[in-house]
Order: sequence, then structure tokens, then C-alpha cells
Amino acid sequence: MKRRTFFRSAIAAAVATSIPGTRSLAALYRPVTQVPPDVDAITGDGREITLKGKAVQELAISLRGRLLLANDEGYDDARRVLNASIDKHPALIVQATGAADVASAVDFARANSLLVAVKCGGHSPSGKSTCDRGMMIDLSPFQGVRVDPVDRRARVAGGTLLGLLDHEAMSYGLVTTMGTVSHTGVGGLTLGGGFGRVGRRFGLALDNVTAVDVVTADGKLHRASRDENEDLYWGVRGGGGNFGVVTSFEFQLHPMQRQVVGGLIMFPMAKARDVLQLYADYAPEAPDELYLDYQMVYPPGGADGMAGFSVCYSGPESGAERALAPIRRLGTPAMDGLTAMDYVALQRSGDVEDPRAVGSYLKGGFVNELPPDLVTAIVENFEPHPARRTILFFQHGGGAIGRVAPDATSFSQRNALCNMLTVVGWNAGDDSTVHVDWIRKFWAELEPFTQGFYTNEVDQETAEEIDANYRQNHARLVQIKNRYDPTNLFRLNANVQPTA
Ligand code: FAD
Repeated sequence: MKRRTFFRSAIAAAVATSIPGTRSLAALYRPVTQVPPDVDAITGDGREITLKGKAVQELAISLRGRLLLANDEGYDDARRVLNASIDKHPALIVQATGAADVASAVDFARANSLLVAVKCGGHSPSGKSTCDRGMMIDLSPFQGVRVDPVDRRARVAGGTLLGLLDHEAMSYGLVTTMGTVSHTGVGGLTLGGGFGRVGRRFGLALDNVTAVDVVTADGKLHRASRDENEDLYWGVRGGGGNFGVVTSFEFQLHPMQRQVVGGLIMFPMAKARDVLQLYADYAPEAPDELYLDYQMVYPPGGADGMAGFSVCYSGPESGAERALAPIRRLGTPAMDGLTAMDYVALQRSGDVEDPRAVGSYLKGGFVNELPPDLVTAIVENFEPHPARRTILFFQHGGGAIGRVAPDATSFSQRNALCNMLTVVGWNAGDDSTVHVDWIRKFWAELEPFTQGFYTNEVDQETAEEIDANYRQNHARLVQIKNRYDPTNLFRLNANVQPTA
């Protein structure tokens, strides 16, 4: 080993072992001091290409965050997403620490026509935030929330998980709609919709977005709001990641007390029809303060199946009894976890303990009402799954969500009473066939009752099905796509295909 090389390695190793949390510094130096080998990759349209090591090194030098290649420390952790059945290997991962890194990554990807995936929380059920042999722009190092309690606004960095926003906002007695699992990304959730426990009061997450910063396919940073780049502002609120990487969100916040009434109330499966019929009758009429999520499960271990509700009543405590009276009239529950509780704790109550231990498959679609035939189809076809790891549940829509015009943002399914979902899980590494087949068979009975699907849960739909799902908003989305992403750099999403 040459003397200079030895010293560099020894210093890097010493630094790496003497400063806690900086073991990766050695890897950080590697691209700056050495030209990495050429990297095989693919373009967005599937062509095989080779990225010259020198060009990859220059990308690494331009970043403040790390550039990870297949053998680098941290690569395996960074490439993973929540759904353990998705096991993809990007050719390179840019761990962006801010808009400048995102712009460098986008410039490099565009110059090489690379396939690009953008990861925030990594919750996309079908794995849209990762890819094989393309570039992953990993926003997870880029998290932060700043609350302005006077203007009731929150600024949120593009890689933030929603639990941080809930936590920071509620410390000022403020809230905005976020999803029901705290490790979901604000990015993906908001850009496609954002249903949650206070959505019927305050609208979808995207209804509360007052401004965004977006790095578009040309590598430029744009601010979009009601007053600036109005078409981009309209497009990102429902069009997902189609137009670029959102590096900052600004949300409207709303005053709300910390204590809500929430939790699970479950009845024996024998009462499933009554419970579901109550949902069919009551969910459309419920006060905006009530979020009601019908759920059906056969718990693992062979315990009896149950049907019931996950509840959040966020109005004044004095109104809770009245709002929940129809549920109480269903009789004695098998499990009653309804209680006054901290909103942020409720938001964390469904978190997954070991998020990457489970493979999963999901089917879902919007329903505008629950006619008797749908009630029957659900109750008669939800059978115990062999591993008993299935659930059917509804994300409650309506209220403030339904009072927004379908073309006010690019999110078009405003009439939905709920998003109906069924999910199966299995231990990571197990054969998924039996589980996926189970869900598909069950879903075949329910799908005829749906009116479109949630773009955040896009699976294997055809381009025509995706276009149709955007309904009256599709034509305007194509115009915006033509302007901001004419080569379809951002295609791993419910893709709006450019025509330019
Ligand atoms: P990712 O997988 O990181 O990204 C999903 C998509 O968004 C990708 O196409 C990605 O490229 C794009 N994207 C992400 N961030 C950005 C960004 N900053 N700029 C540009 N593009 C970006 N949905 C609800 O509405 N309500 C819920 O309560 C809810 N709960 C869920 C709970 C779980 C456990 C799971 C798995 C999903 C849940 N969802 C819910 C669905 C959720 O909205 C979507 O999975 C959403 O895409 C997750 O966002 P993410 O950032 O975690 O995902």
C-alpha cells in the first residue's frame, strides 16, 4: 500500500471509530478520493446503460448527503421499504439532505435518462419508492418540522414522517389531517390525498397544503402556491410525485384540543352484518368530528373473528356520548377499547413494531355507498385466511373532504364515503402465492362495487385504468406533466404519461 493511501485509510478508520455515529465517514470519503467502478443501470424505458465511474464520482462530490452504491455500508438499509416482499436493488441511492442534493440527483438522472424512484416514508404498498437498477432518491435524511403558531402554519421537509408533524403541531394545540400510522411519509401520503382521523373536519392532507417547493425534472426549484405556479400547485395536490420531488410542504393548521375519544370497539363476528349495516346507515350522516373505520379481522392464533370500529371523535368531550350512541346500541362488545386519550398517542397506536418483518399485499377502492349487496358480499366472503393475517377496513371520507369541488385540486374522488381496503400479511421470506391469491379472490367479490381507486395504492393497473381514475382532471394533469416532466422522469407513481 502506498504511504499516502495508508494514511488516508488509517485516518478515515480512526475517525470512523472515534466519533459516535460516524462509522460511515469512511464511505463518505470513498467517492471523493477514488473513482468508483463503472455502474450498470437502466433508463426509464428499460434500456441497459453503463454509468462511468468518473461521472458517478462527480455526482458524489456534488452532494452533501451520501451516494450509496451496492457494496456500501448502509445501502441495504436504505434500499428497503416497508413492504418486506419488495426487494429491489437500485444502481445508486442518493441520500438527499436538502433541495440542493435533490437537484443534483435529478440533473444526473435526467442527463442519463435513468429510471428514478423517490422515497419518503417507503409505505407505497406496491413499492413505487424503489426500483431495480435505477436511481433511488432517498429523502429520509431530510426531515424536519417548523410550526408557526401565530399564522397556524407548519413547514415540513420533504422526507418527514407524519408522526413528527403531529407531535410538533399538537404541542401548540394545532393539528392538520395526516394518516393513521405515524411512520407513514408526509410526502407520499399528502401528494396522493391523505385520509386520516380528522379528515372529515379539516379535509384531506392535500386540502391543507398552502405551498410547496418542488424540484422538477429540469432540476429547477419552484415554489407553488395559490399565487405562484398555480398549475403546479393544483397538480401536486392529487397527482402524486408525477411533477417532481417536493422538498418542502407548507400546511394550514387548525386549533384542536389534545384529548379525543378513540380506540377500537369490536364485536363477535356473528354480529358482522349488524355492525356493517350500522356503518352503511350512520357513516354518511355522522358528525364531521367522528371518524369511523369499520374493521373485520380473524386474529392470529385461531381466536374468534371480530367486526367493529376504529374510532376517533375529536369534538368536545360533551358531544362524544351522543356521537357514539348508535355504536353503543349494537350491544355488548367482545372488546371495548374506546376511551378518552391523547390524539398523538392515538395516531401512534397502529404503528408496526418491526416494520420490515412483514410482506403484504393490498387491494382497495373507493365506495360511495354501501348497498345491501355489498354488505352481503363482504360478510359472506370474508373467510378465515390460513395464517389469519387479513383485515378489511375503511378509511372514512365525506364531511369536509366531500365539500371540496372535484376539480379544485387534482384529487378527483370527492364523493367517496370511504376507501375500502383489504390487506394480507405474511412473514418476510415466506411464499406469498397463497396469500396474494386469497386477497385477489376476496377482492373479486368487492371490486364491482367500487368507483375508482386511491392513487396512493396504485398496484398493477393499466395506463388506461390510471388515466380514467383521474377522471375529469386527467387532461389538465397531462398538460402540467408536459410542461414540468416531458420525458416522464418521474414515472414510478400513478403515472400521468406526457404527450409532448
Ligand atoms: P413512499 O413509498 O416513500 O412514496 C410513495 C409515492 O410517493 C412514490 O411514488 C414516491 O415517489 C412519492 N413521493 C413520496 N414523497 C415524495 C416527495 N417528497 N416528492 C415527490 N414524490 C414523493 N393513506 C392515507 O391516506 N391514510 C392513512 O391513514 C394511511 N395509512 C397507511 C398505513 C400504512 C401502514 C401504509 C403502508 C399505507 C398507508 N396509507 C394511508 C397509504 C399511504 O398514503 C401511501 O402508501 C403513501 O404513498 C405513503 O407515502 P410514503 O411517503 O410513506 O411512501
